[in-house]
Amino acid sequence: MPDESGPLAFFKAQHQAFTETLAARRGREDLIDGLLEQAFSSFEGNVEIQSEGLPPLACHKGCSTCCTLRVTATAPEILLIARYVRWASDALKRAEVDLEQRLADADRVTRGLSEEQRVALRRRCPFIANGVCVIYPVRPLACRGHASYDKRACVEAAAGRAGDIPFSAPHMTVRSLVQHAMQSALRDAGYAFGAYELNQAVSMALADGKLQERWTAGDDVFADALATEISLDEMASTFEAIKAHP
Ligand code: SF4
Repeated sequence: MPDESGPLAFFKAQHQAFTETLAARRGREDLIDGLLEQAFSSFEGNVEIQSEGLPPLACHKGCSTCCTLRVTATAPEILLIARYVRWASDALKRAEVDLEQRLADADRVTRGLSEEQRVALRRRCPFIANGVCVIYPVRPLACRGHASYDKRACVEAAAGRAGDIPFSAPHMTVRSLVQHAMQSALRDAGYAFGAYELNQAVSMALADGKLQERWTAGDDVFADALATEISLDEMASTFEAIKAHP
């Protein structure tokens, strides 16, 4: 587990740290930067500690075998990705990669599909260009937390053939704890705290440059893209139960 005191203590410590960052940066332009620098570095640092002594991962730069799955992300992650896409857009267009168009095309085909339907569709993520993830530095926690020890198993699964993929437990556990602690802190601070389908939500953020402002004012600006497997009420009561745990 991420520290000697176990996952609950780790969640609470993360929650506290995110709460402090949200309070210190409320109303500031760099609110989401601070929050996500903290989330990503905490994820990377704790995965490294928890992975000591484990076999090396099969994942490597340029492998996008698993990038056909549905991805969900929190509002700060989506807003950061939209900003990065705007920033990189001209350079990518010069390389004949029209990311905004790819995203719009993907959104048209994938909007509203369940996780299972997305797997069956086997459509590659629109952020893959020339075999690499072009938003790699700002990819969401969901992508960071998905790591495998066996490339062959990933290829079989991506081709629709059943089989167990030996995923890295530290990646999955730390991602879940860090992301949920951030969502819980967002909720307590009055921000929309859901997880949203990536293609649709980033398309929404690119279409309306005012969404960050509205999200920081407390609006659930990506509500139409909300992932509904776990309701917000259910998530909220789990967060409350964890925080109340001695
Ligand atoms: S955002 Fe990047 S890492 Fe995540 S699924 Fe898409 S291409 Fe893969």
